[in-house]
Amino acid sequence: MESEGDAVGENTRGFNQGRYDSVAKLEAYEELKSEARAIKEDAIERLPELLDELEETVEENGGTVYFADDAEDANRYIREVVAGKDAERLVKSKSMTSEEIEVNEALEADGVEVVETDLGEWVLQVADEAPSHIVAPAIHKSRAEIAALFNEVFDPEDELETAEELTKFARDRLGELIEGADVGMTGANFITADSGTIALVTSEGNARKSAVVPDTHIAVSGVEKVIPRVEDLSPFVELIGRSGTGQDITSYISLLTPPGASPVPNFEDGDSALAGDHEGIGAGANPDREFHLVLIDNGRLAMRQDAELKETLYCIRCSACSNSCANFQSVGGHVFGGETYSGGIATGWEAGIEGLDVAGGFNDLCTSCSRCVNACPVKIDIPWINTVVRDRINRQADGNADWLVEGLVPDEEPGGMDVQKRLFGNFETFAGLGCALAPVSNWMADLSVSRRLMERVFGVDRRRELPSFQRTTLKKWYDERGPKVSAPRRQVVLYPDLYTNTMQVDRGKAAVRALEAMGIQVVIPDVRSTGRAPLSQGMIATAREHAEDVYSGLALHLDSDRDVVVIEPSDLAMFKSEYEKLLPERSFRRLAEHSYDVMEYLLELAEEDGGPGFEALCSPDDGRSGEVAYHPNCQQKTIRKAEFTVALLEELGYDVVTSDVECCGMAGSFGYKTEYYELSMDVGESLKGQFTAPETRERTVVDSGTSCHKQLESLLPRESRHAVELVAPESR
Ligand code: SF4
Repeated sequence: MESEGDAVGENTRGFNQGRYDSVAKLEAYEELKSEARAIKEDAIERLPELLDELEETVEENGGTVYFADDAEDANRYIREVVAGKDAERLVKSKSMTSEEIEVNEALEADGVEVVETDLGEWVLQVADEAPSHIVAPAIHKSRAEIAALFNEVFDPEDELETAEELTKFARDRLGELIEGADVGMTGANFITADSGTIALVTSEGNARKSAVVPDTHIAVSGVEKVIPRVEDLSPFVELIGRSGTGQDITSYISLLTPPGASPVPNFEDGDSALAGDHEGIGAGANPDREFHLVLIDNGRLAMRQDAELKETLYCIRCSACSNSCANFQSVGGHVFGGETYSGGIATGWEAGIEGLDVAGGFNDLCTSCSRCVNACPVKIDIPWINTVVRDRINRQADGNADWLVEGLVPDEEPGGMDVQKRLFGNFETFAGLGCALAPVSNWMADLSVSRRLMERVFGVDRRRELPSFQRTTLKKWYDERGPKVSAPRRQVVLYPDLYTNTMQVDRGKAAVRALEAMGIQVVIPDVRSTGRAPLSQGMIATAREHAEDVYSGLALHLDSDRDVVVIEPSDLAMFKSEYEKLLPERSFRRLAEHSYDVMEYLLELAEEDGGPGFEALCSPDDGRSGEVAYHPNCQQKTIRKAEFTVALLEELGYDVVTSDVECCGMAGSFGYKTEYYELSMDVGESLKGQFTAPETRERTVVDSGTSCHKQLESLLPRESRHAVELVAPESR
């Protein structure tokens, strides 16, 4: 899979860092997100009522509202309006909804000149390309590429080179085109039902010009953009720029209440901003302006009735989910997107508007790393929408190699689903076999003939080193060894996650030793894997069965007031997050509240009175390497547990440098898949760069997740170990 190029990576990473910096300045960021979410939830809940109110308001204002069932219906109406004006030129501001209905093509077929006035959209119109990002459509193009394009197409007197020259050239040319336009078209970021006010959030001022210079204004919008009141705009204005491009506020926020007369820009006199007598809001405007609001369904009302896709309608199209996505940063929106929308949330939009086939074309690029979850200003569970769509795609699949695994795997899925997904989704079964037959299973799996077969049949890339199964699992080792702590402070469950139990047994042993050093008696119960593996393949029914089994297996321990300590962050994230969708509310809450990251738990124990403190764990004074390069797992960061590792290491005297990449690129089974191996390694380059830089290349590499561990092994010539292995005593 090809990456889009450096420009996408640099720009999205810049936006993403800008978001971190900008929201850090907000005191009430989480409260603002909750407020925005509540407004959208309410608006979608009361959508029919709000649409009626909006229609009444716009008509009272003197405008016309048209409800379009689909793209064809919307375009038919728009063409009639444009034809009724004998319009030769229509100028447009940036609007994803207009892209969705392909209105340009419809109007151009009637001989109307359509001009995009957003700079990025105009660049793409000149280049005859599609947007690659929902906010910055030409993000894949560098300044040099745009300069070369303009010089070739427009052949200016003086060659264009700098950003200033390009912007001035575009502004002059677009100004002329807007001034002579017959009809203006805009989208709408929000429309308020109480006043008919359209909010347009842009980086340039051309949206307002497009709306007010021609006497006829058409606004196209999905029905989901309506919110109840003008006051409700407030949290969105605070959040949208910060979330998308990392700006505290976007350059232009235009509030228009058409068709009321609006001030018209003065194109003749550069010293005077507005034409006319400059008195009052309507100065220089035609009082007989015409306004048409085209509200488009195109699948949205059905999405509203769909319990899982409904959340998509809360999206304010800020692009934070794209910018925070490591895969998007590498491949861009042309690959990670469908007919119109791109990035993580595109799966919801494309599934609802175009159908599962279109969504299925890119859905697997979401690895459920979950880095978008905290970035989303309306708290949409984007990975869950992707998982649901994946599950639906599995259920309509018509695979033909299913007989290879049917009957061998105890899953809850229908026949016909993709054999690769089925293999990875049933990893627990294969790991059990691998351990039982180790070391022969490891030797056999590594034979070149096996790797070729696995690649051909299951799509497991032969360049990726396979995990090594341990004959003696963590559970078996502990059952044979037994607890080694007298007069324990208390008992805790050490959850034997699939990866620690069957492959990374050493980190499990280290966790046992560290907990025992803190005076804790460890219990390792016989419970199955969390269901992370099937969930990642969209096998929701199978994951739910795992969740129910795990809860049954742990409930007795919770009844006995035993906390659950988890080493693998992706499994702790299941307990803290995904199980909300898989278990009854009470069971989820109970397990979530009593589950802890192993380093978090050790830190709390060390700070607690009445037992051994930090001195019971190993520090640099015990001969451990004191300089650490730490890579936290993506899901661990999302559930805000990574900071505990840093805090504990620093308390013990380690000097910690933490990577700031969103994801290592491995993401569970993703990096093993033939079609994604190269993308996985490309994403990993950032992490490699950070851990081979002069200031980090001598440091001990510390990880927390199994996937990250395997990826670090592939990226670096030196070993990586779990943080608990660094702090645990050697032996007990
Ligand atoms: S899903 Fe959330 S983060 Fe993504 S574009 Fe929509 S509002 Fe922004």
